[in-house]
Amino acid sequence: MEDTLVHQGQRRKLVQELLQKGIENQEVLNAIARVPRHWFFPQDFQSFAYRDAAFPIDHGQTISQPLTVAQQTQWLALPRGSKVLEVGTGSGYQAAVLLEMGYEVYTIEYIKPLLEKAMRVLTQSNGNIRAFHGDGSRGLEKHGPYDGIVVTAGAPVVPQNLITQLKVGGKLVVPVGSDPQNLSMMRLTRKANGSASEEVLGAAKFVPLKGQFGFEP
Ligand code: SAM
Repeated sequence: MEDTLVHQGQRRKLVQELLQKGIENQEVLNAIARVPRHWFFPQDFQSFAYRDAAFPIDHGQTISQPLTVAQQTQWLALPRGSKVLEVGTGSGYQAAVLLEMGYEVYTIEYIKPLLEKAMRVLTQSNGNIRAFHGDGSRGLEKHGPYDGIVVTAGAPVVPQNLITQLKVGGKLVVPVGSDPQNLSMMRLTRKANGSASEEVLGAAKFVPLKGQFGFEP
């Protein structure tokens, strides 16, 4: 897996673009600048790897748009060392960005071959990932509670079971809505009494969350 000066230059341009689009968190920008997105990108389309756009990967899924990855990471707003669960490993790119943020990262993916492919890249780039195959709409209770949970697929309703897997003060960033093409990005912060405060952060489009608390089994 190579990372040439050309790739690094393309990443610097991408970072400038994200800065102009409102990403202010320097640690997030540094993480985007460090992670070779082309490693997580389909081989035949490497020249598209540093466009600020989502792109199809195998099994009808997508690698998220860099702006979305940066926003979801920025909205977690957690210090280094925080314990974070990502639901929807996909290509592994967002997980790599979370690792670069200095988090203890758990990630869960529904489609086993996607997880295996992502793991081949992630273990070569940063071996500290804890990756699981399963239904992340149910969370990953045995390794919780988490400081943050980021869901990278659209949920039909706020997954209440994920809130129970957060520490008090922990944050869930999740796109929610009945139409995956027209979702609201939400942040829920767990309170001491077990309920959560809710914020709507913007509009979003994602592939649908599958599984027990998703759109389809
Ligand atoms: N974070 C990914 C990346 O950086 O490439 C983008 C992921 S893609 C937009 C959404 C992923 O969520 C897909 O790989 C899909 O298979 C996965 N997914 C959907 N429902 C899931 C579930 N219930 N549990 C775990 N993963 C799920």
